[in-house]
Amino acid sequence: LVVSGPSGVGKSTVCAEVLRRRPDLHFSVSCTTRAPRPGETDGVQYHFLSPADFERRVAAREFLEHAEVHGNRYGTLRREVETYVCRGHDVLLDIDVQGARQIRAGAGGSELDRCVEYVFLGPPSFAEMERRLRARGTDSDEAIRRRLRNARRELPAWREYEHLVINDVLQTAVDDVLAILRAAACETGRRTTSPWPGIRRAAT
Ligand code: 5GP
Repeated sequence: LVVSGPSGVGKSTVCAEVLRRRPDLHFSVSCTTRAPRPGETDGVQYHFLSPADFERRVAAREFLEHAEVHGNRYGTLRREVETYVCRGHDVLLDIDVQGARQIRAGAGGSELDRCVEYVFLGPPSFAEMERRLRARGTDSDEAIRRRLRNARRELPAWREYEHLVINDVLQTAVDDVLAILRAAACETGRRTTSPWPGIRRAAT
């Protein structure tokens, strides 16, 4: 499940709550070159890397997708996704619209697009998003201005996603995301084998 949406929309809060309600989901811990915010721990929210280490991993083709966001680099490690998908787990990715586009385009020869649900998380209004960004109190004025500029560019991308969830009331947004996951699990197109061994295709 790919969840994108502008900064300040409450993506981390929604994702944390979805993970609490669905502990079987694996959260894909991304790499980033940005500095940890207060309360963030290396290996939990992100793997915090130096620019040189990030570049080394790009060259070693360790990323499924990577992008520059708000002046820092972010990337999804192949192993964070493929290991879990291969074991039959659902994986939650909190990535920006550039990253989602790369996965949709089959980045790195991956066939993930076949089994990904794309969710765009939107704010109830631009003003509310700005208020949330400022209330977070973790970013400088300059960083907030940059995030708001990027948000104006990012919001129109909602049309590229199959699902739009508006994060007005947190629990409603979380319920919507959980409903998308449940519905996806019932899609016949996801099954490669018959659910009933021995029962094959109907003769025509
Ligand atoms: P933040 O710095 O606020 O944690 O994240 C900034 C933006 O980077 C968010 O929109 C988040 O979704 C995005 N992001 C986080 N990890 C990744 C990643 O691995 N790849 C891409 N493309 N974007 C990411």
